[in-house]
Amino acid sequence: MKLKYYEIDEKKLLQEAKRGKKVAIKMPEGLQPYAGKIIEFLKKEGVEVYLLMDSCYGACDFVERSDLDRIICIGEAEMPYLRRAYSPPVSFIEARYDFDAEFMEEVIPFIKGKKLGMASITPFAHMLEECASHLRQRGYEVKIGGKGRRTAHDGQILGCDLSSALMISHDVDEFIFLGDGFFHPIGLFMATGKRVIVADPISKKIYGEEVEARAERVLKRRYAIMTKAMECRKVGIIVSRKIGQRRMSLAKKIKKMMEKNGKEAAIILMDEVRETIDYLDFDCYVCTACPRIALDDDARYKKPVLTPVEAEIIAGEREWENYEFDQIL
Ligand code: SF4
Repeated sequence: MKLKYYEIDEKKLLQEAKRGKKVAIKMPEGLQPYAGKIIEFLKKEGVEVYLLMDSCYGACDFVERSDLDRIICIGEAEMPYLRRAYSPPVSFIEARYDFDAEFMEEVIPFIKGKKLGMASITPFAHMLEECASHLRQRGYEVKIGGKGRRTAHDGQILGCDLSSALMISHDVDEFIFLGDGFFHPIGLFMATGKRVIVADPISKKIYGEEVEARAERVLKRRYAIMTKAMECRKVGIIVSRKIGQRRMSLAKKIKKMMEKNGKEAAIILMDEVRETIDYLDFDCYVCTACPRIALDDDARYKKPVLTPVEAEIIAGEREWENYEFDQIL
């Protein structure tokens, strides 16, 4: 079945939808306009499902629900280490974008080194090996990192998990990121320190130098936010119940660290971080949930929202020059 640019496996969808009596489908915002089409398809096959409109930022984004006996997540790839922990169980139907690996010919003029690393995200990660062999035939040495506990595919990276790229970065000159958007490439650049070429298979646009410039802008913004946070007396430490974002022990560690540093600190339980945090009587926040909340959504909040790494810096437990992208590993 075609959803926007992506394909999903109808047979698997139907098979998974038949595995429960109270089944709901859930999908990221970009695929939600196709929810009716999916429900209609299943209905014609004799299967009735609900539409679950909880947030859907990734395979991490699930809370316990006793009203359902299965959730079908359309679009995302599973996080293998959570397979037995989801409650109710979750079936993942990945959305894939197929394209011709000839696209690598357009990338070649942007390449500077000979040893390349490749990384990608869910809809494109299945194409990594084909693209890598195309480049190998053109004389490049190409490496793809393995999968991890949070990733289902070799070469797959998440906003919060760059381990696939880190395992090969010592042995490559630069990376090619196959995918759209700049959040993942910026993380890739910050974590590995290597040049990152962005090759977007949908728009067919390629960016050679953009990532480093954007990463510098992000860092400048983060330094300004951390400087502001250094003045704060009362710190709220946000903990989410979402199964792949829950970091309570880290939150407790940060609370102790802040108190040792002479600040007042409290833990705030919050699954969806919203602008309402600006009205609470805390001066700044440390978000232990998804790193994107602090790094990508910073313009939404008037008060500083820090990552745990940034909290260590403002508490004097880490040097400013040892700044790192927050990862949930
Ligand atoms: S970056 Fe955030 S939304 Fe994406 S997988 Fe990690 S925790 Fe989940």
